[in-house]
Amino acid sequence: MSKIQMTTPLVEMDGDEMTRILWKMIKDDLLLPFIDLKTEYYDLGLEKRNETDDQITIDSAEATKKYGVAVKCATITPNAARMTEYDLKEMWKSPNGTIRAILDGTVFRAPIVVKGIEPVVKNWKKPITIARHAYGDVYKNAEIKVPGPGKVELVYTGEDGTEIKELVHNYTGAGVAQGMHNLDNSIESFARSCFNYALDIRQDLWFATKDTISKKYDHTFKDIFQDIFDAEYKEKFEAAGIVYFYTLIDDAVARVMKSEGGYIWACKNYDGDVMSDMISSAFGSLAMMTSVLVSPQGFYEYEAAHGTVQRHYYKHLKGEETSTNSVATIFAWTGALRKRGELDGNKELMEFADKLEKATIQTIEEGKMTKDLALITSIENPTVLNSEGFIKAIAETLCK
Ligand code: NAP
Ligand code: MG
Repeated sequence: MSKIQMTTPLVEMDGDEMTRILWKMIKDDLLLPFIDLKTEYYDLGLEKRNETDDQITIDSAEATKKYGVAVKCATITPNAARMTEYDLKEMWKSPNGTIRAILDGTVFRAPIVVKGIEPVVKNWKKPITIARHAYGDVYKNAEIKVPGPGKVELVYTGEDGTEIKELVHNYTGAGVAQGMHNLDNSIESFARSCFNYALDIRQDLWFATKDTISKKYDHTFKDIFQDIFDAEYKEKFEAAGIVYFYTLIDDAVARVMKSEGGYIWACKNYDGDVMSDMISSAFGSLAMMTSVLVSPQGFYEYEAAHGTVQRHYYKHLKGEETSTNSVATIFAWTGALRKRGELDGNKELMEFADKLEKATIQTIEEGKMTKDLALITSIENPTVLNSEGFIKAIAETLCK
């Protein structure tokens, strides 16, 4: 059998711990036997990041701008414990944060739906994709604990000295106050990423804020989305047969619960934080989610939504058996390969991505799965496989 050829390389970002182990198994058993895999390899493992003063992370993001598509393994975000564990020169920043800052994108997360892992919400038939704005609001706020009577004001001072003042509150006793911000630029990028992604996967786009209460702040989000939609996307949406739908956040939440799924839900930063955890846990698990960063210029970075699964890695190091779910990491690869194929007009590569996803889902639906899924499946007497056994089982299904 001749292998599938690639014309342009994928940017490959290797990572840490258990997901690094899975990464190699996936390549060895599911990709290399079938594809003449072309990648530009960046080792984002913590040791290499430390050795290069984190330059490797920046280089990998720049390479993504050059080639357009990257696939990323989960990586450690260092904390105090990692400083000693890896003898780090510095507490390097989260690679995801660094990459996001360079590519300036929106993260889209969707559950991978499998028969036998039923969503808790019984009418959800199709995945719901969350698009989370990843800049500003309460994540970059300024807060005051108000000690006693007095007034709090918001003051803007322009470079030319002009002032805009708004009274927050006249305090008669102690309390709290907070100031938040966002930027038109960032909201515009967010909107374009959402519209592009909706066109990409041909699904309706929902967006919701609290504009009736927040008449300037949230209303600006609503207006920017609507203006960009009307000017740049309205006709494209009509041609694709999809809809952009704006509503209030509380109405959106009620509609989501009653819906069948099958759309993208764009959320402001805080809403996205909270709602993506609700959606992922209601659909099953973080190991059954796809995650892709889409930049407004159309660069794509695919990853798993979960971390490096540290606890399993320590077991692995002790020589104990692990049963770590590789589905999200496999889907990071298939997402990237499909997008590469699409950009290069490489049909074979796109079809391979489809087949590998199908084989993965079929393997689980036949009752062969990792421990985390065996605990929540409605399939009777599932076969619990170890990390490697599960990947080998998918390889077998794929060959068939
Ligand atoms: P984690 O890797 O997401 O794992 C937390 C727990 O969730 C695991 O111990 C495991 O539960 C379960 N789990 C997650 N993924 C699983 C999978 N694929 N298969 C089976 N079970 C899975 O989070 P963490 O252990 O708290 O964090 C480890 C490191 O990941 C941290 O250094 C953090 O900085 C990093 N992280 C990276 C990313 C990223 O690169 N995208 C995201 C989040 C965290 P049981 O132990 O009960 O089996
Ligand atoms: Mg959260």
